[in-house]
Amino acid sequence: MKASVVEGYPKGNKMKILIEDVDASQVNALRRAIMSDVPKMAIDKVMFTLGVNQDNNRGEIFESVNALPDEVIAHRLAMIPIPTCPDNSIVSPFECMNCKDMGEEDRGCPMCQVLYTLNVQGPSADSDEPFHVVRAGDLTNVSDPTFDISEEMKSIPITYLAQGQFLEFIAFATLGRGRDHAKWSAASAVTFQPRQEAELKKPKKASIFFNLDLKTSDGRPIDAKLFSNKKCSDVSTVLDLEKAMHQVGHGTGRDGDFDDAIVFNKIDGSFVFSYETDGSLAPEAVFNIAIEELKTRFSDLGEDLGRAFA
Ligand SMILES: [Zn+2]
Repeated sequence: MKASVVEGYPKGNKMKILIEDVDASQVNALRRAIMSDVPKMAIDKVMFTLGVNQDNNRGEIFESVNALPDEVIAHRLAMIPIPTCPDNSIVSPFECMNCKDMGEEDRGCPMCQVLYTLNVQGPSADSDEPFHVVRAGDLTNVSDPTFDISEEMKSIPITYLAQGQFLEFIAFATLGRGRDHAKWSAASAVTFQPRQEAELKKPKKASIFFNLDLKTSDGRPIDAKLFSNKKCSDVSTVLDLEKAMHQVGHGTGRDGDFDDAIVFNKIDGSFVFSYETDGSLAPEAVFNIAIEELKTRFSDLGEDLGRAFA
């Protein structure tokens, strides 16, 4: 198997990788490993403070009620991407030296969990503000600073607080895997498609397509210059061409004149693999960890088979 990052990627959290010398089942194993086996951090337990608080400065009373039930807030917290550094020493509570032999309720120590606190009050009675939005940025990390909520995720809304309301809790994030819950899934939209090569079969008829003034995703005009010797094999350009071809496809009224002037040929054993991480892990890291996970799984399987047939 050969893997290379498609030029121009990663774009933010999005990734495209060209994988060669494989079959579809192997690429699919990789796809499943990315969705369910790559470990990442997510908030797994929340302890809410319930009751009534008095603001000492003004004597105002705040109550622990708000628009959303605690379960919904806990779920929203679980979906906030928690920065996961693959080299970090945090381990899953199931593998933690201190906790693995404990009951589920008792698990959790500095080696296997990260602590966040949040304490936000709604607007005071004399404020013009009708409500206050609690956001991911209001979470205070009391563990290693590498787990601070990243700048791009700080604006994620959690709930509203009206006058006289407060929200206070301690949240615990742990390392987990997507196969146990979607909150631990490091990437979404994990897909792959066969790599294709575009062939300009009928240059004259293709003019109806080229005259549409379409552009590739990096801004180059879509015209005959994309082809050399009537072929175009650049991965990104072929994907752009595939998309643009909808403009001359069935139902556009242009398909008759276009007359399949450009066709796509599959390249055997070659796939374009794409996914987008939620920001917890870098896209490259997700791919590398998935490969490692597959390697250990297959070497384990190899040993088991060895033993079974000894
Ligand atoms: Zn532990």
